[in-house]
Amino acid sequence: MSQKSPRVRFAPSPTGALHIGGARTALYNWLVARGSGGAFVLRIEDTDRERSTPENVAQIIDALEWLELDWDEGPLSQAERADRHREVIEELVAAGKAYPDPATSEDVRKWKEEHGNIGYRGEPRDVEGAAIRLRMPDEGETVVDDVIRGPVRFENRLADDLVIARGDGSPVYNFAVAVDDADMGITEVIRGDDHLSNTPKQLAVLAAMGAPAPRYAHLPLLHGPDGKKLSKRHGAASVQELRDSGYLPAAVRNYLALLGWGTDDDTTILSTDELVSRFSVDRVGRSSAVFDEKKLRWLNGRYMRDMPLDEYVERVAERLELEGRTVADRDALREACAIAQDKAQTLAEVWPLIAFCFEDPVDDEKAWSKVMKPEVEPALARALEVLRETDPWNAATLEERLEPLVEELGVKARDLYQPLRVAITGTTVSPGIFDSLAVLGTERTLARVEAALSRLRGA
Ligand code: GLU
Repeated sequence: MSQKSPRVRFAPSPTGALHIGGARTALYNWLVARGSGGAFVLRIEDTDRERSTPENVAQIIDALEWLELDWDEGPLSQAERADRHREVIEELVAAGKAYPDPATSEDVRKWKEEHGNIGYRGEPRDVEGAAIRLRMPDEGETVVDDVIRGPVRFENRLADDLVIARGDGSPVYNFAVAVDDADMGITEVIRGDDHLSNTPKQLAVLAAMGAPAPRYAHLPLLHGPDGKKLSKRHGAASVQELRDSGYLPAAVRNYLALLGWGTDDDTTILSTDELVSRFSVDRVGRSSAVFDEKKLRWLNGRYMRDMPLDEYVERVAERLELEGRTVADRDALREACAIAQDKAQTLAEVWPLIAFCFEDPVDDEKAWSKVMKPEVEPALARALEVLRETDPWNAATLEERLEPLVEELGVKARDLYQPLRVAITGTTVSPGIFDSLAVLGTERTLARVEAALSRLRGA
């Protein structure tokens, strides 16, 4: 039997930035579509006209684009489909599956004449403008056969007849969602757990329309490492903040994919292609997943290290532009990136590591007072003598010439190299010392070490 390709959707309400939980939902839907040759539909649930501003919609789209999650259909606007929603309401009323309420006594009389004694609970209130209610079953239960949770049962007698249109005729949210899912041929609904309680209502609408029910998968909420619901206090909370913090989209996709889903083995580094071929919503766990920015940083660092140098330089250049810095000399930037690549965990960390290659160091006073004690003066002075004679000026030769000083001076290696590092970079954190000296070049190195010595000697 041939299986129909899945059609999935991401249906954000544009109320602001795209949060990390929403991004994970979008990613899971996208992975299902891309892994199955199915379609990924983007539907903007913008029926709340006050909050659904064009800026909010743009923010969501921008975040999805940054994450490189492309959609096949859309963005479709739910608000623009209001006529269609009204049409279905009329059809359901005409078919006797929905009824106006509260209604005038006359409406009730007519209704009962046409449809018999179904529908009404409570007395008509004789007011203008009737809400429309969908007739719900009185007995039995509605079972949501959730892919992640298993069957979740809802007792029908606890549910009122569902209001599907307000007194002013406007369709309600749960109704619009179900109609849209039916019209868009959605076969799998993958969304946050907070929508589980809406599902029996949406199933009732689908059933009334005679539309097949999609498969539902409700994703457990994301928590911070402290077990509390994910929020800003756990670090970045939105996709925009992740971008600003200098994470790479591929690493973010990898990390988000693992929030609640895992492979059989302990693999943590999965390229997007691997995710596409291996991801399965059936393997998403039931317990809430923990977003831990420390782990994302680590993973991002791995991606930064493993990136081809040309791409790395490209990414760093984009980042610098974003920060309003210009490094015109691409070759110099490439050289600097090459020595920092295994050190920076995010794009934002690159510049502080390589700035010394492009501008005079601004002494970090804490680093200076910690390292530049009077007793380091002889070692620094001796290093300067050796540096003056080093030729050719490259990392290997620098190492070969400087290493013997440790024994000669009877100091620990760090007591030679940390002062040298502070002298040329102004800080205690930099790429490898020999690499840093090599990239900086003879002239600038000598000038900076001389300046540091003068400061040390109080000149
Ligand atoms: N618009 C809803 C939200 O942003 C999602 C609805 C759904 O996926 O069914 O939470």
